[in-house]
Amino acid sequence: MTAPIYNRVALIGLGLIASSMAHAMREYGLATEIVGFAKSPETRATALEIGFVNRVTETAAAAVQGADLVVLAVPVGAMGAIAAEIGPHLAPGATVTDVGSVKQAVIEAVAPHIPEGVHFIPGHPIAGTEHSGPRSGFATLFRNRWWLLTPVPGSDPEATRHLRQCYEAMGAKVDEMEAPHHDLVLAVTSHTPHLIAYTMVGVADDLRRVTDSEVIQYSAAGFRDFTRIAASDPTMWRDVFLTNKEATLDILGRFTEELFALQRAIRLGDGDHLHAYFTRTRAIRRGIIEAGQDTAAPDFGRGQPPA
Ligand code: NAP
Repeated sequence: MTAPIYNRVALIGLGLIASSMAHAMREYGLATEIVGFAKSPETRATALEIGFVNRVTETAAAAVQGADLVVLAVPVGAMGAIAAEIGPHLAPGATVTDVGSVKQAVIEAVAPHIPEGVHFIPGHPIAGTEHSGPRSGFATLFRNRWWLLTPVPGSDPEATRHLRQCYEAMGAKVDEMEAPHHDLVLAVTSHTPHLIAYTMVGVADDLRRVTDSEVIQYSAAGFRDFTRIAASDPTMWRDVFLTNKEATLDILGRFTEELFALQRAIRLGDGDHLHAYFTRTRAIRRGIIEAGQDTAAPDFGRGQPPA
């Protein structure tokens, strides 16, 4: 147990990320009180029943009253309206952060509503699962995962230091980068791969009508991994593509060019090209495992939440 870093934390949105944060904050004693708000009464009741919040409120404005840390943990497309609602109710000196998967669009939507004297420090935990909702969270979600902060001009260094300290206490590794750079990096490492997984599962689903249930019955590891990714929350991912449009389209363009080159190699029987390409990509996988960002276990060790 550490001494609390924040007195009152307000979580706006009570899904996978917010509930995981609450579990971790409680486990490590990082907040004296956690107040929650989510759109539906069902989600609010579930959060109370599980007990990862001390109380819930009926509006976002009520949740942020007197909070010294406010976390926006709703889909990216909902952040602007929430910021407009809570702006006038934020306590002077409070820190507002978010966990959105896209950073530039969130900054544009949220920053105009943050009053002077309140610190806005955007962030994004590179951690998640394909599950969503208040029952899906667990305290160790952020352990050994990166949490990227993208401070805006004028972000207070002391407030940033506190937030960093809080996330590090949850087991995360914290780094700072510019928002446009974040969005490009994530388009490569997360957003475009999700789109490819959605497409591949969609293609297989079309095929299933032809081959009956063979796609499911003989589902091999490669396809099963795609289906896991493609089971991710539709609202969250719709918003990611609508708000990280340029970077995703840029990476998709490059992806299409590479795909054409591989297609050509297959047609021409150019085994050397294919072998050299797959050798290069295999080394990247090895690098990810060596960097501690995944495991070499056969099913990627994803049978259970990471310990
Ligand atoms: P989630 O499990 O689907 O939860 C979303 C929460 O937001 C729910 O509690 C939902 O309430 C609430 N919500 C939605 N619209 C709202 C609104 N207009 N007003 C108030 N509450 C609203 O989502 P999540 O996975 O925690 O994702 C939250 C954020 O984290 C997203 O911005 C996402 O980009 C980011 N993120 C996600 C992952 C991941 O792997 N899932 C990883 C890193 C970052 P109801 O239940 O009442 O609808």
